[in-house]
Amino acid sequence: MTAAASPATRTAIVTGGARGIGAAISRRLAADGLAVAVVDLDESSCTTTLEAIRADGGTALAVGADVADEASVEAAVATVADELGAPSVLVNNAGITRDNLLFKMTVDDWDSVMAVHLRGTFLMSRAAQKHMVAAGFGRIVNLSSVSALGNRGQANYAAAKAGIQGITKTLAIELGRYGVTANAIAPGFIETEMTAATAARMGMDFEEAKRLGAEQIPVGRVGQPEDIAHLVSYLVSEGAGFVSGQVIYAAGGPKT
Ligand code: NAP
Repeated sequence: MTAAASPATRTAIVTGGARGIGAAISRRLAADGLAVAVVDLDESSCTTTLEAIRADGGTALAVGADVADEASVEAAVATVADELGAPSVLVNNAGITRDNLLFKMTVDDWDSVMAVHLRGTFLMSRAAQKHMVAAGFGRIVNLSSVSALGNRGQANYAAAKAGIQGITKTLAIELGRYGVTANAIAPGFIETEMTAATAARMGMDFEEAKRLGAEQIPVGRVGQPEDIAHLVSYLVSEGAGFVSGQVIYAAGGPKT
């Protein structure tokens, strides 16, 4: 095993790590023994995640960056490499929603969602893969969504999340020969501020939204950020090197 492939010396970058699914992924990877760079728009918003990781004895660094901005991404990945070590794990998790029915969707709603999800995944992956290829080892995990299959009010988000599946498969094909895998996770209903905000926008009480959601989910509950973190932990592990280019739906049942 090379030093770069040793879990004890690996560095992971998790975008959108300040809260929600990204925070749970950051904590889980740190508990697995990786040094974790928690990247979010505002560095100070990462404090809670950082403190939780350090309280558990883990190693973490907060980096403020906009994943949709090329210069910001290049600077962030360089900072991580300098201060924490060359990244060999990247989790493209940062995301936003700008839901609207098509006839009301603005160009800004469309462009903002494309910028964070698609340009963000492209820019972060391009910047991080240099280090992975040099090390001959890498793991990229991208957050897609069940909305990639189509969802009312989410033409922008559904297109972006379907696009993430396409870039994931392409990265798997291009980077496989360098020991780098790329996979996507497509979560269903996960309890976070994002889904709470969606419920609020629809004029629904969040507890009621979760209860109604759980009724539609075969395992009888909505998901928690830790459900997704557990899957990320597997996909970035040493032993997952023959799993690449996959989209794994984590939705408490099959989605059609
Ligand atoms: P969340 O609670 O809204 O957290 C998203 C995080 O991403 C926030 O900390 C946000 O920062 C950050 N972020 C937004 N734009 C960014 C940018 N340009 N650069 C850097 N960071 C940025 O969302 P979540 O529910 O945890 O979702 C995480 C991922 O899972 C997203 O990609 C989402 O689309 C996907 N997903 C979620 C669900 C679900 O049910 N929750 C289901 C399927 C897929 P600010 O707070 O500063 O905006």
